[in-house]
Amino acid sequence: MLRITNLRVALNDDRPLARIVAQRLKLPAEHIEEVVIFRRALDARRKNNINFVYTLDVRVGIPEGQVLARLGGDRDVASVAQSVPEPVIPGPHKLDSPPIVVGAGPAGLFAALTLAEHGYRPLLLERGRDVVRRTADVARFWETGEFDPVSNVQFGEGGAGTFSDGKLTTRVTDPRMRQVLDALVAAGAPPEIRYLHKPHVGTDRLREVVRNLRQRIIELGGQVQFETPVIDITVKQGRLTGLTVGDGRHFSCNVALFAIGHSARDTYEMLYRRGVAMEAKPFAIGVRIEHPQPLIDRAQYGPMAGHPKLGAADYALVYHDKKCGRTAYSFCMCPGGVVVAAASEAGGVVTNGMSYYRRDSGVANSALVVNVNPEDCGSHVLSGIELQRHCETLAFRAGGGGYRAPAQTVGNFLTGQSAHYLVAPTYRPGVAPADLRQCLPRFVTDTLARALFDFGRKIKGFDHPGALMTGVETRTSAPVRILRGQDFVSVNIGGLYPVGEGAGYAGGIMSAALDGLNAALAVISRYSPN
Ligand code: FAD
Repeated sequence: MLRITNLRVALNDDRPLARIVAQRLKLPAEHIEEVVIFRRALDARRKNNINFVYTLDVRVGIPEGQVLARLGGDRDVASVAQSVPEPVIPGPHKLDSPPIVVGAGPAGLFAALTLAEHGYRPLLLERGRDVVRRTADVARFWETGEFDPVSNVQFGEGGAGTFSDGKLTTRVTDPRMRQVLDALVAAGAPPEIRYLHKPHVGTDRLREVVRNLRQRIIELGGQVQFETPVIDITVKQGRLTGLTVGDGRHFSCNVALFAIGHSARDTYEMLYRRGVAMEAKPFAIGVRIEHPQPLIDRAQYGPMAGHPKLGAADYALVYHDKKCGRTAYSFCMCPGGVVVAAASEAGGVVTNGMSYYRRDSGVANSALVVNVNPEDCGSHVLSGIELQRHCETLAFRAGGGGYRAPAQTVGNFLTGQSAHYLVAPTYRPGVAPADLRQCLPRFVTDTLARALFDFGRKIKGFDHPGALMTGVETRTSAPVRILRGQDFVSVNIGGLYPVGEGAGYAGGIMSAALDGLNAALAVISRYSPN
């Protein structure tokens, strides 16, 4: 294969890719046998000259050496060999019983899938419900404010990202990322996620993917049990020997992978009580902000806004506050999405963002958050959770109950003056006008206020007085890290594998899935199946 990098194709160039490639390689079109897109990014830095930038793998009908010689040292064209994944060899220690995976989010699903693919017949335990029943539970909550602690936006099959934008962007460059993408496509995700620089699946398609991943685990000999929370662990002589679940059943095991996500506060507490080593870690809190999508499109794409090849625009904003040394940034931006109620505890309001594959709601939303350090929260390792919970409770009260969220325009937040909403609030079961400064620590709201001015300079209209802020956004990442070694095993409890975002080793769907996959490989390289 020949790999072409940095191939720029103008937005309005409608020629077939094979023809563009033939021209680039100075070959007649009939010599181009196959073109595979390896990566496609968008360069919109110059608004009047927006380009797609491709990396392409091309099979040609003549010897590659001839093509390269003709191009005379062109650095953007080279021969590449197809990489073959290294074989995984099971380790010497025989398991007494199948490995257990706790939590069916991206980390748990990919851990269980990898174990199942290698013949380990894992048992996957999930506290929430399957994705079909969960979708109905969540819809009821959004409609009526009737909260279900078992089945909600944080808990249930697919984990926290099921009701999300399904953005699959990540900064992690592990070659096994391709394996994760291939598995997602095999389970029904759109094939272009393999090559887009900023791929996304959308909540609608993600639900189908999650269900198919579960089916695959079962086909390969795994078992999945829903509404089965792990409530205790048994440890003997520093090794995990079993788990207890909510209905009192006990499962013996040598190995359990804890992929519990960042919202399993009761599970963190249980692990802490049982002496599992953990530390407080930084996280971030803030609000969700909403703008009309065309405002963001115009700012990002200029005169090309609305072009059918572009779709809804996104943004990523960062502001380093010299006054207090904090950083405010946009997080989990959802083009054409909605703000969702994402509580996992009764009496707390939590916001997050979601969109459908088509991203066509007409409203852009994003979290605007400020970093929180462990010392802001207190000296206890779980103090970060207390701060999150405190803000969520204040937001619940400020919203007037029923899980309505407090909302405020940017104009009112910055100057106290009233302003009309620029967009109709998308959060369900509804919002109530309130002062967000009453729900968040002052260092957060003061930093956000200064950041808004800066963001308004970067994206015209971002600080429009009518832009709508809803709160509170507290579940951006885990406030705790469960300590593990290079071998993925807890530093003080043998057989316990802390995995994914809840353990503090991932941030987002892709990195959590990859961590689950790599943790499973670590189990495989140590143990052989029972
Ligand atoms: P989780 O997905 O949180 O899964 C943990 C699972 O463990 C849950 O299903 C939970 O019910 C279960 N569990 C917890 N405790 C127990 C127990 N004791 N016993 C049994 N089961 C238990 N990330 C992105 O990359 N892109 C996005 O577009 C995106 N959008 C998001 C939108 C929303 C609304 C939310 C809430 C999150 C979003 N995220 C997004 C973040 C992403 O979902 C998480 O980073 C990711 O899901 C973490 O994966 P995980 O498997 O580590 O944990």
